[in-house]
Amino acid sequence: MSEVIVVGAGFAGLAAAAHLAAGGAKVRVVERHEQPGGRARTWSKDGFMFDLGPSWYWMPDVFERYFERFGYRVDELYELRRLDPSYRVVWPGGDAWDIPAGLDALRELFEHHEPGAGEAFDEFIDQTSYIYREAFDDYLFRPSLSFFEFVDPRLVTELFRLKMVRSMSNYARSFFEHPRLARLVEWPVLFLGASAEKTSAMYSLMSYADMALGTWYPMGGMHRIIEAMVRVAEEQGVQFEFGRPVNQIVVEGGRARGVRTPEGTLRADAVLASADYHHVERDLLAAEHRQFGDKYWSKRTMSPSSLLFYLGLGGDLGELGHHTLFFDEDLDRHMDAVYERPRWPDAPLFYACAPSVTDPSVAPEGDSNLFLLIPLAAGLSDSETMRERLYHQVMQRLEDHVGQPLRERVVVKRSYAMEDFEQDYGAFKGNAYGMANTLRQTGPLKPPLRSKTVGGLYFAGQLTVPGPGMPPSLISGELSAKVLLDELRGR
Ligand SMILES: Cc1cc2nc3c(=O)[nH]c(=O)nc-3n(C[C@H](O)[C@H](O)[C@H](O)COP(=O)(O)OP(=O)(O)OC[C@H]3O[C@@H](n4cnc5c(N)ncnc54)[C@H](O)[C@@H]3O)c2cc1C
Repeated sequence: MSEVIVVGAGFAGLAAAAHLAAGGAKVRVVERHEQPGGRARTWSKDGFMFDLGPSWYWMPDVFERYFERFGYRVDELYELRRLDPSYRVVWPGGDAWDIPAGLDALRELFEHHEPGAGEAFDEFIDQTSYIYREAFDDYLFRPSLSFFEFVDPRLVTELFRLKMVRSMSNYARSFFEHPRLARLVEWPVLFLGASAEKTSAMYSLMSYADMALGTWYPMGGMHRIIEAMVRVAEEQGVQFEFGRPVNQIVVEGGRARGVRTPEGTLRADAVLASADYHHVERDLLAAEHRQFGDKYWSKRTMSPSSLLFYLGLGGDLGELGHHTLFFDEDLDRHMDAVYERPRWPDAPLFYACAPSVTDPSVAPEGDSNLFLLIPLAAGLSDSETMRERLYHQVMQRLEDHVGQPLRERVVVKRSYAMEDFEQDYGAFKGNAYGMANTLRQTGPLKPPLRSKTVGGLYFAGQLTVPGPGMPPSLISGELSAKVLLDELRGR
């Protein structure tokens, strides 16, 4: 039986490990932190339980497909609730729209704000459902090892027919004149790490995921997914070593032969590294074994970093819903500060997540759990003073929105930003969620799943295909494991 070491126990590492073990390999996962989950770990204090990273459960079909492969339905592993409203958007001037769940209610909302937009919405959903299905049934699951995998005249013809050979921003405005309706359908591509102007309309599949497939929440918190993935992996025979950082990948005769850790060397027939690609190449491999130099990395568009606040508050949050997007300041100005001319934004956009609205188990009885996220440029110099300045700015707007003071009721507070991402994950420029899915960084143009310089060394995770987010990271683990299993079986 071949032995494989998987570095990292986030979505990608867990998915890779379970698939490798199911394919007959003896698998050991080596993780630097004391708990699994990576960016989806948890932090608890004084009865509050915070999910450190992801909070939007989208594309439920990806998770269903994953767990089915190991003999489970999702409802046998955790309880999913569909949120309705899916989320709230606060616009300039302070008025707010609740975005309802379900296509009929959404159609009504669009028609209400722009006569004729209901029909345009139907057409938008029709087109984006096509691209979502193509991705789900095929493209997302291509390992992208060569350009020829992506040369598909049928898809290219379809993209031209659907007028998707343009930016997401442009595509959204071809359906809706009302600027807020256009914003509503384009914002989901922000999950892919670049602005709607820089992202291909092909990724409108994210809008379909939002509007047609819905926003869900696993009761108990997002880490319930991680617990389920660990359980499935263990049932396949995967062994875990937590609290064990990998310092080096051992390469002998041009092949990966194991990993070096402070407690000693672990040997294997192959290594699958799911830690950040840049960290693995720069910090865990000797210079002669790297595929990419500093010049390559300096030209990549990383996803933004984020300033996060984990807050425990005494009492409730008034009318605040589970997810609220504060688009009440100038979005273009904020995007400029994140992508074009990196700087601390003067009037930041932000996102507030209050899971205790849906799930009382994440806070002491009667209290509230609040997570705030402010996108910042990757590579921005971190500063405690700036963290605090932004905290008070966004809390003021939140207090204005809910109509009551909140800061005086904060009993637990932790902030997290660039320096923390670097320290916890070796994240290049302190990025939060990998490399942006721009056109120049899609499919075979991303760093590959299989090393071109070291035999038996494979990669997975949000810096390789298909891209950032829980579902893509999970898929990348599966893809990398399949390519590695093929090699082990001599194909
Ligand atoms: C703040 C935030 C909000 C997000 N929101 C959402 C959301 O709402 N919905 C969504 O779908 N996605 C969201 N994402 C993105 C999603 O969380 C990530 O894309 C996904 O979790 C990445 O998984 P991964 O396995 O690729 O990487 P990681 O989770 O980073 O896993 C890599 C693992 O490798 C370990 N590791 C690193 N170096 C070493 C080493 N030297 N030795 C041993 N182990 C090592 C790390 O500790 C980590 O456990 C968010 C991300 C962040 C940061």
